[in-house]
Amino acid sequence: MKILVLGSGADGGVPQWNCSCHACRACREASQPALKPQPQRSQSSVAVSQDGLSWVLLNAAPDITQQIRANPQLQPRAPLEKEAEAEKAQKAAKVPPDSDLHSPIKALVLLDGQWQSVGGLLNLRDRAGLEVYATPPVFEDLTESLSQRFGLENRDSVRWHLLPVAGSQTQAEFRIPGFGGLRFVAFAVPGAVPGAAPGADSVGQRIAVAVEDLASGRVFVYAPDLPTPHDAAEAEAEGEPELAWLQDAACLLVDGSAEWPSRSLAGRRISTHLSHHSRWLNESAGADRQLAAEACELAFDGMVIEV
Ligand SMILES: [Zn+2]
Repeated sequence: MKILVLGSGADGGVPQWNCSCHACRACREASQPALKPQPQRSQSSVAVSQDGLSWVLLNAAPDITQQIRANPQLQPRAPLEKEAEAEKAQKAAKVPPDSDLHSPIKALVLLDGQWQSVGGLLNLRDRAGLEVYATPPVFEDLTESLSQRFGLENRDSVRWHLLPVAGSQTQAEFRIPGFGGLRFVAFAVPGAVPGAAPGADSVGQRIAVAVEDLASGRVFVYAPDLPTPHDAAEAEAEGEPELAWLQDAACLLVDGSAEWPSRSLAGRRISTHLSHHSRWLNESAGADRQLAAEACELAFDGMVIEV
């Protein structure tokens, strides 16, 4: 399975448009000898594929248009011969003037309803038949706040699939048509998301996703947003469900504000969703030492991971 990191920054990206902190200046002023250059980071999202041809997005950041431009794997390709024939037949049957519209992006899984995770949906909705997977709280939030205004209720542009993570149900396995070699599991991340209605049930407001490559049995876990501060040692003691997945994964792509659990994790550890205030981007030499000590890497936009 292949994972393509489209964005590795937290809300607002790095540099943030109105900030002159150390990390933001290190992005903008790469030639300043006093600053260790930092790559620019768009807001977090990844794409997952079993064959490198068709992709599932995990979150759609407001930066999605720019991210697609930066990653040719996600751009429409000239149709293959067979597809061209089908296209001709469609045109002959006077099906749409829109038949040039196609994309290697076949589906989208939304991990929460925050703008940084869903804003790109407004760009993607123009693609006919986008399959979107979300939990009931995220679906309700989006359909109430965005749907009528931006056309998300149009069944032809977005097809919704509900992931039953809500109430007492903290995990749900699901499959995505066209991705028969991958098994997906959504699991609840504890804690309400910022801006959620007070007192609302937090289960399902925020999920992480595990993807298993059925041929190899290897698992990739994407948990880009964990409550801050997220004390992993405490979580470990409480037996939070995400930790069971983290332990078994061959590759973990996890919120950069979280501490890595102390128990040994065999998988490749990568921090993402990096804020400009992240310790990793602000303590140059110390951060490098700490990365080595924790045996973890920093994600970057355009990073390709093979699992
Ligand atoms: Zn900053």
